[in-house]
Amino acid sequence: MNNFFIILAAGKSNRFKSKIPKPFVQYKGHILLKHSINKAILSKKFSNIIIAINKSHKKYLKKLKENNIKIINGGKTRADSAKKCLKYIKKFNPENVFIHDAARPNFSLNLINKLLNALKNNDGAIPVIQGVDTIKLKNKKSIINLDRKEVFFSQTPQAFKYDVLMTLQKKINIKTTDDAALLINAKKRVKLIKGEDSNYKITTTKDISQNRIFYGIGFDVHRLVPGKKLYLAGIEIKSKLGTLGHSDGDPVLHAITDAILGACKMGDIGEKFSDKNKKYKNIRSTILLNKVLKDVKSKNFDINNIDINIITETPKIKKIKKKLILSISKICNVSKDKINIKGKTTEKLGIIGKEKAIACEVIASIEKNYENFR
Ligand code: ZN
Repeated sequence: MNNFFIILAAGKSNRFKSKIPKPFVQYKGHILLKHSINKAILSKKFSNIIIAINKSHKKYLKKLKENNIKIINGGKTRADSAKKCLKYIKKFNPENVFIHDAARPNFSLNLINKLLNALKNNDGAIPVIQGVDTIKLKNKKSIINLDRKEVFFSQTPQAFKYDVLMTLQKKINIKTTDDAALLINAKKRVKLIKGEDSNYKITTTKDISQNRIFYGIGFDVHRLVPGKKLYLAGIEIKSKLGTLGHSDGDPVLHAITDAILGACKMGDIGEKFSDKNKKYKNIRSTILLNKVLKDVKSKNFDINNIDINIITETPKIKKIKKKLILSISKICNVSKDKINIKGKTTEKLGIIGKEKAIACEVIASIEKNYENFR
């Protein structure tokens, strides 16, 4: 196996308006460039990975944390960068070379296999997709309708026999937007492989703005005693029994707070508001949850939905469910239809069954928006 995977990441990405250069912005849990590296490694088809970067982006390289990768300063154009990488690998006597744009992080491993297979009988193989729009060609005199079935858009990675591509690179000095164009112009055998819609090119920040979903779990239990108030979901509920607690003892808001903190990986309610701290004595849980919500919001998290089990014999949750949902919706500033409450009993079993305690469990899903590239 003497296959090389070249990733081109040296462009200026003028259409991508962000402080961080495009190859280094966060995307689906990694920096954009890393996705292509990971796929090349995972495929186990390549002996070496070469990346052409923009000299001015060097300081971002520490984000890569990869050892067995060769980094090369790219050229002025895409073609120059490809050429530099191809020249560099010559000494390793490569058999096949893949050339890939870092801006396409979503290709599949299956595509790599198909391309490599195609090289057995061809000089090059490129993934292409058909257009969905009707395409017109405008020249100086007229506009021509192109047959959609005969128009293809090429993607990357593109695969080549190294020697064939290198010979053409040397001979021809034209600017090409992809390397397949060289082979096609020279009438070499190029196989068109069905590309992947998901393998679109990330061009503007709009293509990368995405929400990721996280889940958090919360649980709380409080003793039920006579002569105390009962707060559930931030409102006082008429009840012969109320909760014991350092704060107002609202198990629903406490479990919600923990579920949200959990989803955002921000610890738990006990760490944030210690029950040893007098400041929080008898404090309304609404205030605590509001503090957490403010923190969460500042980190670009949004609540997606909240599912709640309230486990108690008394009061009967069914009757007050609507009120509780409305209250949570107001506190969390999320629509009522994103909140679900289920009233549960323990069939008279245990301390909950004997009306000595009330428990609540919550799962919250939270979306994080990465549009701002923090
Ligand atoms: Zn509690």
